[in-house]
Amino acid sequence: MFDLKSLNPQQRTAATHTEGPLLVLAGAGSGKTKVITCRIAHLIENKEVPPENILAVTFTNKAAREMQERMKELVGSRGKGMTISTFHSLGVKILRQDIRKLGYKKNFSIYSTSDQLGLIRQALRETNDTQKKFDPDSILWKISGAKNALLTPEQYRPTGFDESEQMAVAIYPRYQALLKSCNAIDFDDLIMLTVRLLRDFPEVLAKWQQQFRYIMVDEYQDTNPSQYLLISMLAAQNRNICVVGDDDQSIYGWRGADVEKILNFEHDYHGCKVVMLEQNYRSTGNILDAANHVISNNTKRKVKALWTESGPGRPIDLIVAADDEEEATTVVERIETTCFRDKVSYGDCAILYRTNAQSRPFEEQLRFAGIPYVLIGGMQFYERKEVKDSLAWLRTIANPEDEQSLLRIINFPKRGIGETTILKINQWSMEQGIPLFEALGRAAEIDGITEAVRAKVQAFHDLLSGEIANFAAPGHLADKVDRLFRKIGLEEELYRTIDDQATARRKVENIEQVINSLAGFESSSAKATLPLFLEKVTLMDEDRFSGKDKKEHGRDAVTLMSLHSSKGLEFPMVWLVGLEEEILPHKKSIYEDFSIDEERRLMYVGITRARRHLTITRCLQRKQYGKMQERHPSRFLEEIPEQLVNLQQVAGAQALNEDEAEKMAGDFFAKMKGMLG
Ligand code: ATP
Ligand code: MG
Repeated sequence: MFDLKSLNPQQRTAATHTEGPLLVLAGAGSGKTKVITCRIAHLIENKEVPPENILAVTFTNKAAREMQERMKELVGSRGKGMTISTFHSLGVKILRQDIRKLGYKKNFSIYSTSDQLGLIRQALRETNDTQKKFDPDSILWKISGAKNALLTPEQYRPTGFDESEQMAVAIYPRYQALLKSCNAIDFDDLIMLTVRLLRDFPEVLAKWQQQFRYIMVDEYQDTNPSQYLLISMLAAQNRNICVVGDDDQSIYGWRGADVEKILNFEHDYHGCKVVMLEQNYRSTGNILDAANHVISNNTKRKVKALWTESGPGRPIDLIVAADDEEEATTVVERIETTCFRDKVSYGDCAILYRTNAQSRPFEEQLRFAGIPYVLIGGMQFYERKEVKDSLAWLRTIANPEDEQSLLRIINFPKRGIGETTILKINQWSMEQGIPLFEALGRAAEIDGITEAVRAKVQAFHDLLSGEIANFAAPGHLADKVDRLFRKIGLEEELYRTIDDQATARRKVENIEQVINSLAGFESSSAKATLPLFLEKVTLMDEDRFSGKDKKEHGRDAVTLMSLHSSKGLEFPMVWLVGLEEEILPHKKSIYEDFSIDEERRLMYVGITRARRHLTITRCLQRKQYGKMQERHPSRFLEEIPEQLVNLQQVAGAQALNEDEAEKMAGDFFAKMKGMLG
């Protein structure tokens, strides 16, 4: 029997209402995620539902991993076979089985942003956009928006006279065709194609409906229309769908998430049970008070009364620093003293910011102080050039039609196949309508290539063919990759082409990490294959994790992350930094989108990550584009009642203020003098 006594009565109602639709709409830290885990345990242990019939969808891979671990603690191996994943991983799972019905091959590649941009550039080139008027990023963003709205190339129409939108409309069909010719799909396809598969093939839909008899979705307020449709289709048969969320934490409106979905859930599912949770178990009274006050300034919301039994706790510290350097040194000093004095560990501390660029001074100071940290976001491991190059080899071997990867490695490491040759081969392959990989093997038929180069192309083709066969045979994957990298001279190439040997060494180490990661994957999974490994790597990218998780790191480290990635998490000690106008609320929201409410929700998310203590910081000045600029306090600071806050000016800020007072006094006297004639 799984005992539900750790839950309060409302939570228990939610956890045990297993048949029929259920909505849990509740504020931060009220135990929504806990309800999902207990509900799964209840289904397995008390209702003897086979784990295969359970699907739980989380917002990030990290959240999925945490939930999986939690389930292991609660039900152990009896949970084996259930699906706990993100929407994207769920899409992969479904597509791997039946994507052939949509005309793709089973070993499809998943393209990351840089691969996607490569295809967009190619499509733009074909339109003779010789002036390079269009920005590939913004074209891709628009196409992605269309996909999230489930618009096919045929259905996508311009909404106005925006030239770049018109170009996106024009290019979308070509982009999609290019993807298909590479036997590749992008992240948005993971949802869009899955929806199409389920919609067009009733037998496929029926299969998954029968499998996922109990469905749970965490962070439901941030699902976009295509994700919503996917879940609705899967749940249509059994209607055992439980969604939990908080409209006050909807922070992905800019990516097409639609908060109305959670507010309309009751209407979409007749007879839906609604449970509100009001007790917050996460934060102290002061922290919760501050959060409640801030969010009450949003008008369009479902008002929730969130309370806590824990006492007020320490006041919120508000630190005013002279500039961003002082902000960072102060925060790092405080982290050091807190960890020393209050017996908290580095792993209990998080620094949260609005934009990833803010992390730099904090990283520098942490490094300077010798404090371990994990950076979530920014330049990620799998985005690094050498890592992408080495992975491109593996991607090509797993899917020779993946032309973006093939083009990446054709002359890496350098083997004397130049740009013009590559262009010629590419051209020829298109004219002949054959894949690039095949064209390489038929270089003899292509005009205008010298005999010497032809031999090199042929050798490259033979090498790849040999490796494809080699990898298809049984054997230890990491060993094979190690041998492959040696054979092609990856290390030598890095040492040869990079002047700074320390940089080269770091890059070589990163490549080693790829092999290590594969070895780890192999030892943890009995069914490890190269495509599965690549899939894991690509999906991991999505969370923007650099390196590894805190736990995997095997050491105790401070977490640095953006407010967006902090959703759903909690830390005993939180530093919320850069509370200035044009940062939070972000400039874009003030001047372009007029979406201050969404920024306020971000502020709410930030405050409510803290369990025991919250520190907020702001600067009087900040370097921007290399120049010191005066900064103004965020409007959200005024929304926190004064009595909750302990205001502290650090040295630099005080000095700056004195200067300012002097200057003001000077101005005053000058003015007086003027007045006196
Ligand atoms: P968020 O909106 O930030 O995602 P949430 O509503 O999902 O928050 P949880 O993360 O599930 O909240 O819970 C917050 C904290 O409160 C967790 O540490 C959890 O273990 C604890 N908690 C939840 N319910 C209870 C309870 N009934 N008794 C004790 N602790 C609880
Ligand atoms: Mg949660």
